[in-house]
Amino acid sequence: MKNLFFLLLLFPLTGIAQQKNISEKLFSNYESYKEEKITNRRFKHTDIQPLINNLKTDKDFQITNLGNSIEGRSIKMISIGKGKTNILLWSQMHGDESTATMTIFDIFNYLKKNKSILQNIKLHFIPMLNPDGAERFTRRNAIGIDLNRDAVQLQSPEAKILKAARDSLHADFGFNLHDQSKYYNAERTEKPATISYLAPAYNYEKTINTTRGNAMKIIVEMNRIIQQYAPGQVGKYSDDFEPRAFGDNIQKWGTSTILIESGGYPNDPEKQFIRKLNYVSILAAIHSISTGNFKNTSIKEYENIPRNDRKLFDLKITNLTFSHLGHDYTVDLGIMRNEIENQKHTDFYYRGQIRDIGDLSTYYGYETLDAKNLKFKIGETHPKILSDFEEFKKLDFKKLLLQGYTTVSVDSLPDEIKFTHYPVNIIDSRKISIPKNNTIPKSPIALYKNPTFLLTKNDIVIYAIINGFIYDLGKNKNKIINGLVK
Ligand SMILES: [Zn+2]
Repeated sequence: MKNLFFLLLLFPLTGIAQQKNISEKLFSNYESYKEEKITNRRFKHTDIQPLINNLKTDKDFQITNLGNSIEGRSIKMISIGKGKTNILLWSQMHGDESTATMTIFDIFNYLKKNKSILQNIKLHFIPMLNPDGAERFTRRNAIGIDLNRDAVQLQSPEAKILKAARDSLHADFGFNLHDQSKYYNAERTEKPATISYLAPAYNYEKTINTTRGNAMKIIVEMNRIIQQYAPGQVGKYSDDFEPRAFGDNIQKWGTSTILIESGGYPNDPEKQFIRKLNYVSILAAIHSISTGNFKNTSIKEYENIPRNDRKLFDLKITNLTFSHLGHDYTVDLGIMRNEIENQKHTDFYYRGQIRDIGDLSTYYGYETLDAKNLKFKIGETHPKILSDFEEFKKLDFKKLLLQGYTTVSVDSLPDEIKFTHYPVNIIDSRKISIPKNNTIPKSPIALYKNPTFLLTKNDIVIYAIINGFIYDLGKNKNKIINGLVK
């Protein structure tokens, strides 16, 4: 052991080993730099202003007001460092893509205590480029423009701000920070594309010049890091040239541009682990730019990153057999759990939906359930109408499910209750409708329907599927996050 230590001292670490060393340190010390004031994806412009103002206590940070959004929210740039190489990082150009904004505030905490990384560089951060979109947690800005299609027309003040910042700095490197759907996977694998990369093309011919080549080299290094912590969970975006997009144009204007898309990771709905992966990989990339290490990286590895595909569901149920009009059909189900927001766009609940039916053998699920040898059973509504929510809470839910009931009627339920954390759905007794005659017969399994049903074996309920979640009654494992109030 002692000898090995000596060898390490005598021979400087190779680029790859050094990079690994740095990323491992960043990963293990992350918790001491994490910005604890941000804990979920739906924070707003007002939440980050005090965090930006706090940076004023460190004279090395320079805060510039770049201008305002359409609704008058300030867009600021935070700069630090005195080196020659300018690196510009901007996040949340799409208002509902906030993972990297969280990361930027973690990076500020790191930079307060670790200034040596700044040796040859100057960093410039624009967190939350689209604060009006963030307010509504939507992609587009207040007048419905997708900023990422406004790089040339520059009709949005937010787009003008980004363009002006890039031009004033002549940034050498640009990090274009986004989120992508959690349903993206690395092509032909069940692995989610937790992080996806792109060195955008700057022309239809997809030429690789030095500017774009350097972006590819940085991506190769970041990919190596992500592979350590989320093996196989990296995808590469299509490099088809989009003449209206910022990434493509900023590459064209001479800034080596790296697109990072934060996708999904199992059991990480608020993307806190992905936030950490961004922290580790972006800081390691900055370090590599600062030292110039990235120059020795071959871009060949870039080509080997698997492509992004969109073949994931939250839950995939295979071999489900059900009857309709006297015939049996065996299908796979692709189930998604959609986030339904409250009015202030600060919180959400899930509403499950059957998004595909049939042969889904080329698709994958974050969760999978094989329904082979199980019998499909429609869940019934319990005949008793409960007087209020208090009575509902006292129910023995497991017993209800075992008896074949998936829905309970409740009287005088407040209108604002849209869901509960109990493992059945609720129907407001006032809304129970009498089935009409002469309607087209409805299949018990249908596209876009809420997935709520039972799976039995020898007439015993083994699984209850409620609102697209699983209650494994055989193993007594309830994984239902919320049921619906209909
Ligand atoms: Zn985006």
